Amino acid sequence: MALRGCGERNTPSWLCLLLLLAGCLGFYRVISPKAQVLKPTRTDVLVMTPWLAPIIWDGTFDSTILDAQFRTTTIGLTVFAIKKYVVFLELFLRTAEQHFMVGHKVNYYIFTDRLADVPSVPLQEGRQLVVLEVRNYTRWQDISMHRMEMISNFSERRFLHEVDYLVCADVDMKFSDHVGVEILSSLFGTLHPGFYSAQRQAFTYERRPQSQAYIPRDEGDFYYAGGFFGGSVLEVHRLTKACHQAMMADQANHIEAVWHDESHLNKYLLYHKPTKVLSPEYMWDEQLLGRPPIMKRLRYVAVPKNHQAIRNR
Ligand code: UDP
Ligand code: MN
Repeated sequence: MALRGCGERNTPSWLCLLLLLAGCLGFYRVISPKAQVLKPTRTDVLVMTPWLAPIIWDGTFDSTILDAQFRTTTIGLTVFAIKKYVVFLELFLRTAEQHFMVGHKVNYYIFTDRLADVPSVPLQEGRQLVVLEVRNYTRWQDISMHRMEMISNFSERRFLHEVDYLVCADVDMKFSDHVGVEILSSLFGTLHPGFYSAQRQAFTYERRPQSQAYIPRDEGDFYYAGGFFGGSVLEVHRLTKACHQAMMADQANHIEAVWHDESHLNKYLLYHKPTKVLSPEYMWDEQLLGRPPIMKRLRYVAVPKNHQAIRNR
């Protein structure tokens, strides 16, 4: 910040002194440790894809720099709470207020068929909640898959005019550590916690050539999670539209991909390489996977759910 105007009359001298002092102390400058070319930030994990997209792990980024870069950015967080899944909203939103894009402008887009069950959670300044009424489906698989269609439709109608980036998340989760602008990029996906160390042959891609989601056994970079992806509104619109169209084609051919929308997401991201990849810090299940030493932080984690009691209800 420049001290323009301090030489003019009417500016109290104590204010000039205060501003000068603040400037000297570095309040208006972004001060951060220098990166060290000969000292890699992480040596235990891959931090760059072969197409040179960063893989986001703790220790590889400096939030001070990134927060300044994304200072004027607005982020949309889409989440579906259809039928019984409204019970997850409160914890999801409360923890998002503590950890998700803190200090940035955020629009929560809640897609639901149960308007009356959306909890009122106090929000920080610059953050708002938008409830979007949508239809439900009988099968949980259809609810999960039709998220692509609904995100695609609302991207054209609203999101393009309202936010810069979209983050598309499952609701049966909570934030438990910092999730900030380090994730933002044109197109990003998250390494599925169950498969980050697996061979490509072991990925649960759709293997039947009759499906639009088919991936041959000798292809595949990573297995991405269906519950956390995003990018610029333009790219998310492209992705969700393509996945929805592929699912419609499958339906016409009486085939349903093995992991539903996640299978189609994986097909899309194989042929449209993401510009950032999030480590499993951004999608973890401690009950199932414990806590290996590479996981320095657990940022977005599964909330235990009783599948029988909650699905198809
Ligand atoms: N979902 C929903 N109502 C349902 C089923 C699913 O709102 O009856 C939404 C919800 O956002 C959920 C997502 O679809 O997080 C994916 O389903 P689920 O989390 O059950 O799949 P999983 O993570 O277990 O594969
Ligand atoms: Mn889930």
